[in-house]
Amino acid sequence: MAFINTVLAYFMQFLPKWFVRPFAKPYVAGVKIDEVLDVVKDLNDKGFSATIDILGEFVNDEEEAVKVKNQYSKLIKSIRERNLDSTISVKLTHLGLDLDFTYCKNLMIELTHEAKKFNVGIAIDMENSPYTDSIYKVYSHTVKIFHKIGAVMQAYLRRSFGDLKNLNNSKLVLRICKGIYNEDPSIAIKDKNEINKNFKLLVQTILSGDGYACIATHDIDLINSIERWIHNKNISKNRFEFQVLYGVPMTKTLNKLKSKGYKVTVYVPFGSSWYDYSIRRLNENPKIISYVLKNIFKK
Ligand SMILES: Cc1cc2nc3c(=O)[nH]c(=O)nc-3n(C[C@H](O)[C@H](O)[C@H](O)COP(=O)(O)OP(=O)(O)OC[C@H]3O[C@@H](n4cnc5c(N)ncnc54)[C@H](O)[C@@H]3O)c2cc1C
Repeated sequence: MAFINTVLAYFMQFLPKWFVRPFAKPYVAGVKIDEVLDVVKDLNDKGFSATIDILGEFVNDEEEAVKVKNQYSKLIKSIRERNLDSTISVKLTHLGLDLDFTYCKNLMIELTHEAKKFNVGIAIDMENSPYTDSIYKVYSHTVKIFHKIGAVMQAYLRRSFGDLKNLNNSKLVLRICKGIYNEDPSIAIKDKNEINKNFKLLVQTILSGDGYACIATHDIDLINSIERWIHNKNISKNRFEFQVLYGVPMTKTLNKLKSKGYKVTVYVPFGSSWYDYSIRRLNENPKIISYVLKNIFKK
């Protein structure tokens, strides 16, 4: 079955959008802003916080980057108007990082001022390794303007522990994830146990200092192991949170974390670029195909 799922996931990218849509639906909170805001309201009502991502990476020109920035501005205002418990997550290549560093940085600065005005936090997502330095540079600049700007660190990158030492400060809000891009073994750890070890080390280092850790993983053993460490060290609940991607089926674990009084945030992607995102999710976890097929046939 696993082999069939993998083959199907690979061929999905050659199929028409209408065919892929049912597989994408659980992972993407719609195309329009109102759809995502309704999903976030529902998550908030169930006791989860959210972070909203407008799907997309890389833009063709500066005009397109401004359009994305304006969409994020609208999102920030709507979050405040509807009094939602949500931050936003931004990919800098979506704001033109690939076109021009300074242009992108200035757009991010504008967005930071708007976020500060409406008191909505921003997480700057981490992308593939050619962008790591530039992303941390923009982060270091914008966090001086608004303390609710957060960064992301990938546990698979060998450089991450060194980066953490450079970033560590009392304002640090850092999401630790394993890392999603296909990086070269010379810069990225490939062994799952080693990645998990580094993940734990990064979280423990943040929590042994003054920072705030966002523990972003669906790996239940890793979650349990970090949770045990946090419990033994008596770390205050306002120093960390757990984060998961919208639609990943792990209700039992999330309810358990919530019942222990921990903050749980759901990363909610939406927007017209749902197709590329979904293909990536399906290739990452071909098991999704059998979950969705089962649901379709149950209905
Ligand atoms: C909130 C959040 C934000 C993230 N932000 C970034 C970022 O900015 N930059 C970046 O490089 N990466 C980001 N990621 C992705 C991350 O780096 C991993 O690639 C991804 O989360 C899979 O790793 P895992 O920790 O869940 O562990 P794994 O060992 O890969 O998976 C653990 C278990 O969860 C299941 N699982 C994992 N992902 C899915 C899925 N999508 N659907 C269904 N089941 C799944 C697996 O099948 C496995 O059983 C983010 C992840 C999360 C949760």
